[in-house]
Parts: sequence; structure tokens; C-alpha cells
Amino acid sequence: MPEALLEVNHLKKYFPIQKGLLNRTVGHVKAVDGISLSIQKGETFGLVGESGSGKSTVGKTIIRLTEKTEGEVKFKGVDLYGLSPQELRKIRPSMQLIFQDPYSSLNPRVRVGDAIGEALLDHGLAPKEEIRNLVLEVLKSCGLSSYHFDRFPHEFSGGQRQRIGIARALILNPDLIIADEPVSALDVSIQAQIINLFRKLQDTRGLTYLFISHDLSVVEHLCSRIGVMYLGSMMETASRDELFKNPLHPYTKALLSAVPIPIPKLKRERIVLKGDIPNPADPPAGCKFHTRCPFAVGRCKEEVPVFRDAGGGHFVACHLA
Ligand code: SF4
Repeated sequence: MPEALLEVNHLKKYFPIQKGLLNRTVGHVKAVDGISLSIQKGETFGLVGESGSGKSTVGKTIIRLTEKTEGEVKFKGVDLYGLSPQELRKIRPSMQLIFQDPYSSLNPRVRVGDAIGEALLDHGLAPKEEIRNLVLEVLKSCGLSSYHFDRFPHEFSGGQRQRIGIARALILNPDLIIADEPVSALDVSIQAQIINLFRKLQDTRGLTYLFISHDLSVVEHLCSRIGVMYLGSMMETASRDELFKNPLHPYTKALLSAVPIPIPKLKRERIVLKGDIPNPADPPAGCKFHTRCPFAVGRCKEEVPVFRDAGGGHFVACHLA
């Protein structure tokens, strides 16, 4: 098997809870609690879960926007947490993060073309006189034009702003893009256009994506493999087709039951989960999902289910699966 572009092993990210005048640590929010995944070059891995499942923290911890508590992250075989700040800065252009709201990261007074070119200058990746042409090229590949170079961020629609966000990542010629809810704030028709753009860029540039979303219907169209997270832990991973045809974890089944089917005669039985996702500072014992699982048995409250191979690369953490 070829070496994975990205390999994450037992990654943990705990945020301390501090209280009192002396800011004493009284507990931890276990945002990411032992996640493992690997992504091959050219693959799109979808990471799915409700808000509060820790999926965004996984993305940020992978590229060291926030530091890990434990675990290992290897990119092209290099241990990212073993790098010095200088070495990390050198490798950074190869791993780019795209946010849900690119507008918030754009300076309203800086023309879009300059904002996209800024990163090239910062990293010393191109001489100043070449930057305009490089930006025009990347704008074109993202469905924008030279007209947009001198416009300001407020002059763009939501979909165009996300194209700018993608262009800002692409200009650095990355190998891996971590896209965190990149289409969640967009209308459905615009979502489709942006997903098509992601796909086209993958075909033309051989990109690898970690695509983070709360919406299984969005990842279905783009991802070859999917991981389902709940309360900081991975509940199930499988190829997209296998996960949609044969979901094994009750949480995945519940998420899938909310995904509309294009054939009106076929209806999935809707599984409505009771209550909200528990507090990650005080997760339930045993299976973390037992407080909301319609199939929970006594053992689920005490014993943590092992994340095991159910066959053919389909992994699941459930006593009953
Ligand atoms: Fe539900 Fe038990 Fe499986 Fe957890 S281990 S998902 S509580 S059946």
C-alpha cells in the first residue's frame, strides 16, 4: 500500500477549564479524544458529525493552528509535531485550511487580488513582479476573472467569497486542503457550484482533501471515504458507497436517516436522536453515544466499544454492530 499523504494516530486535543482567581485547571474539554485516520494522495476524506463533535478541532490540530495534547500527525511521512517553527513555516504552504466564512479573514480595505497574492509574498514563493499574473491565473481557475482582481471583499456574493477563499489556498500550490464547512453558509444551488469547483481542481491539480461537514449529503458528492465523529471520537469509517449502503453505527444511521433520497417513492425511516450532544468536558462513560442511542444495552454504559474492522476496511465502534 502506498504511503499515506496524511496520517493521524490517536490524536487528542484537550482544552483546560480554568476557574478562580488563580486560574486553576479544574477539568478538560476533550474536543478530540484519540482520533486516527489516514488519507491517500488524491483522495477526499469526509469528516462528519454534529456541531460540537470536535471535527473542526481535528482540522486545526492537524496543521498545528492549535497544538495537540497527544498523538501523532504525519504529513508526507514527516512528523509535523517534531518540526521546529522554521521547518513548520516551510512546510505550511503545502497544507492549507479553508474556512466556512472566508469574508471574516479578508481585510475589507485590501483589494482581493492583493489579498490572494499576499501569501506568496509572505512565504517568499514568487518575485513581486510575477505575483499579479499568478493571482490572475488562480482567479481564473476558481471561476473568477481579471475584473475581480481590483474589487474589495464587500463587492462579492457568498459563493464568490468562497471562490476567493479557495484561490487564496491554491496560490500556494498545496498538496492537502482541509476545508472546514466550506459550503455550509451557501444556498443549495451555490453549494453545488462550489463542490463542482473542488472536484474540478482535484482533477486538474491532483489535490487531496480533508472535507469537514455536519452534512452527510454534502460529503456524499465529493468524498471517497467518510469518517463519522461523535463527541471527540471516531464512531465509524468506511468508503462512501459502503457507508451509505451499509451503515453499522446507530449514530451514522441516525445522520443518514435525515439525508433526503432523490427517489420520492423510497423513504428512509427517520431516526430522531433525543437531546443534545453531551458536554465534552464530562462525556458519558462507556460508549459516549449511549445517552442518545435507541439501541443501548446495559453493557454500553460501562464498556467503551473497540474501534474494530468489521471487514473490507469498514471500521466501527459499537458493541452491537
Ligand atoms: Fe448504541 Fe451501545 Fe452501540 Fe454505543 S455501543 S452505539 S450505545 S448500541
